[in-house]
Amino acid sequence: MGEDGKLPGGGENAGDVVSGLRESFGSGKTRSYEWRAAQLKGIIRMIDEKEEDIVAALKEDLSKPKLETFVHEISLARSSCVLALKELKRWMKPEKVSSMLTSFPSSAEIVSDPLGVVLIISAWNYPFLLSIDPVIGAIAAGNVVALKPSEISPSTSALFATILPNYVDSSCIKVVEGSVPETTALLEQKWDKILYTGNAKVGRLIMTAAAKHLTPVVLELGGKCPLVVDSDVDLNVTAKRIAVGKWGSNNGQACVAPDYIITTSSFAPKLVDALKNSIEKFYGENPMESEDLSRVVNSNHFARLGRLLDDEKIHGKIIHGGERDEKLLKIAPTLLLDVPDDSLIMQEEIFGPLLPIITVDNVEECFDVINSKTKPLGAYLFTRNKKLEEKFVKTVSAGGILINDTIMHFANPKLPFGGVGESGIGSYHGKFTFDTFSHKKAVLHRSFVGEVSARYPPYTARKQKF
Ligand code: NAD
Repeated sequence: MGEDGKLPGGGENAGDVVSGLRESFGSGKTRSYEWRAAQLKGIIRMIDEKEEDIVAALKEDLSKPKLETFVHEISLARSSCVLALKELKRWMKPEKVSSMLTSFPSSAEIVSDPLGVVLIISAWNYPFLLSIDPVIGAIAAGNVVALKPSEISPSTSALFATILPNYVDSSCIKVVEGSVPETTALLEQKWDKILYTGNAKVGRLIMTAAAKHLTPVVLELGGKCPLVVDSDVDLNVTAKRIAVGKWGSNNGQACVAPDYIITTSSFAPKLVDALKNSIEKFYGENPMESEDLSRVVNSNHFARLGRLLDDEKIHGKIIHGGERDEKLLKIAPTLLLDVPDDSLIMQEEIFGPLLPIITVDNVEECFDVINSKTKPLGAYLFTRNKKLEEKFVKTVSAGGILINDTIMHFANPKLPFGGVGESGIGSYHGKFTFDTFSHKKAVLHRSFVGEVSARYPPYTARKQKF
């Protein structure tokens, strides 16, 4: 940010951005179906025409493999936008609800009202999807939007700033680039909703800033996602699905990546062998050279993961991988066995290619381990045991639960995506995003008939005989 408080790009300060957006919202144009549909069509066109640029930006930011960028970011964003466009009229339609006898005759409805001026602050790990997906829902709901992409993924941030204004109404949808000072300046303004994706420490700052203006927030946070493996499983499928959910998702830098495994000590050797096998099949004998693994995003995160690996409490616990190359910012898929609970790796979210395995005598002990930690964003269980599955679904408090797979729930727009407790507040995806950015306005229509004298004072003794 410049000394004059100007934000990068348009020569505006944060106050200008919000007042410009508020004026555009005040014009009423964003309320129409036509305006919303035109913006969504613009975003689809942008995705189609700029696919190569998006792939290139993510390669620069994370050396993300093209296929992962396509499947996890471009294709999900596009289908989210196509869905919003297809369903828009239905979503916008007021929902009729029944009336009470006490207000007979009348009709009641819930009107989805745009909130107004919304701020979307996104994170670096899925820098395209996590930015554009909430924007899609915010526009569909008729809002004006400021998007602040992450400075940790600068190429994607710059790409948004360059291309988005060419495809949408730039008086209503703005990209503000920058890091802490710019975001802090934006947070001083009054917004009608803030959706933040990132870590819980900053989440608290966002909520504090929002509280000043009574602005509602959605906090899409993370945490340690547990993955439980029972002995009654298809081991080969289990290992492949764990490996792809961990290392095939941005090399573990995903909010829903399995953070640690819980299994029984008797089953652990079989699971370890199967995981090693999958890692080798996917990434070859030398994964450090694999083109199919993202790198660690930057040297700060590389150093953070290094601290987890160098913790003396896990000395001798690495049973596979562990190689790292600071210059290339690469860390190999790494398995650790029986790490103590007070080690750093079990105390904080890993967000990288390290996967510790905790062993217990009986799989039922997984519930104690999970409950001893803060509520996760995702929790995974692999089992054929229906009773265990039922108990897991019923008793584990997590943003989402997936049985016999990893991360796939994220891609289903019919499921709300969000955390609980320390892993977040609120949710989005599909219609949930539309609802997140709408106020559900209660509207009751009456005519001048249907007078009931008992309603009006004086409350005579006769009226009180009910
Ligand atoms: P990040 O460093 O990109 O930060 C996120 C955003 O916060 C950025 O736009 C950044 O500019 C802004 N920011 C950083 N410090 C700030 C401050 N002091 N004041 C105001 N704004 C600030 O991302 P991160 O935090 O490293 O992201 C990783 C975390 O996000 C992990 O915990 C992960 O689990 C979580 N995450 C959650 C989701 C989800 O959908 N729930 C998705 C991705 C990541």
